[in-house]
Amino acid sequence: MNILITGGAGFIGSHLAEYLLHQGHRVFIIDNLSTGSFENILHLKNHERFQYTIDSIMNVPLTAELVDRCDLVFHLAAAVGVKLIVESPVYTIETNVKGTEIVLDLANKKKKTVVVASTSEVYGKANKIPFSEDDDLVLGPTHKGRWSYACSKAVDEFLAFAYQREKRLPVIIVRLFNTVGPRQTGQYGMVLPTFVKQALQNCPITVYGDGSQSRCFTHVNDVVDALYKLALKKEAIGQVFNIGSDEEVTIRNLAERVRAIACSNSPIQFVPYEEAYEEGFEDMRRRIPDIRKIQQLIGYRPTQNLEQIIESVVHFCRNCTAPGQELSYLGSEDLRSATG
Ligand code: UDP
Repeated sequence: MNILITGGAGFIGSHLAEYLLHQGHRVFIIDNLSTGSFENILHLKNHERFQYTIDSIMNVPLTAELVDRCDLVFHLAAAVGVKLIVESPVYTIETNVKGTEIVLDLANKKKKTVVVASTSEVYGKANKIPFSEDDDLVLGPTHKGRWSYACSKAVDEFLAFAYQREKRLPVIIVRLFNTVGPRQTGQYGMVLPTFVKQALQNCPITVYGDGSQSRCFTHVNDVVDALYKLALKKEAIGQVFNIGSDEEVTIRNLAERVRAIACSNSPIQFVPYEEAYEEGFEDMRRRIPDIRKIQQLIGYRPTQNLEQIIESVVHFCRNCTAPGQELSYLGSEDLRSATG
């Protein structure tokens, strides 16, 4: 197949590209390097079945050409990361809503299947645990910036379902729960790469709030495998699926485990939420997916537990080159409109 990944130079997109090449497909990616990076695809750029375009999906003629050449689209391009959302709400809303609108509209012309990446954030502050696909979404007020991300992704989901029902466009929606693994950057606030980097440098590990909030982390390899298997299932069309792990850990415990695995002397430092994000910031207390639906359809089970996940991130961070080094031969201006 010819497969397009929007956001293909991002953390998840680049792992998906690698996986699809391995499956024998031809892979096209488009990415504006806003949160993705060229380093993520450096090891793929000379592959004969890989083609990259460094540009925005808002460039409609270009995106149209790419969608046209492909049989299947994974739409991963989005503004992600709580820190980014709090700092740049206009960019977040516009990128997420307009971008998805463009991709769905273009895919609809020749009815190309689109897998739309959504997020566990859409469940908001629901108290019912675990979160199931049919649950109500419980979001906060519109004047609190952090909810704009959840809301923009919920609009993406509504739009995808609308295209499916009204125009018969084959769409599959996935809600990703705290995906982690090698190449993820802590630059946009993600907790695991942040903790690992702090631990390896023996700097304080910054736990926000009292650290009693919990999450379930999934290795990116399990996520891309699930994305691919869902895309091949006819029965997945017109459905929404959680992709995650049900191994729950408090953030405080995560910090302790990272410190132990990295053999670090870092102290744990508790940072009030208002210092970390903004005044009145509301964090999710617990976030656990119900994964029965995807399990029933494709036999999904996470294959890596938290211990293995932390080890793989520690290993990656210990061995990776300092960001930017590989790019010394290319100025950022060169990259802005590069194709290869
Ligand atoms: N967090 C933290 N220290 C950090 C970054 C994040 O304690 O340096 C916390 C954050 O407040 C949240 C959890 O870790 O409770 C997961 O944060 P992340 O941004 O990775 O993902 P989220 O689940 O919020 O989307």
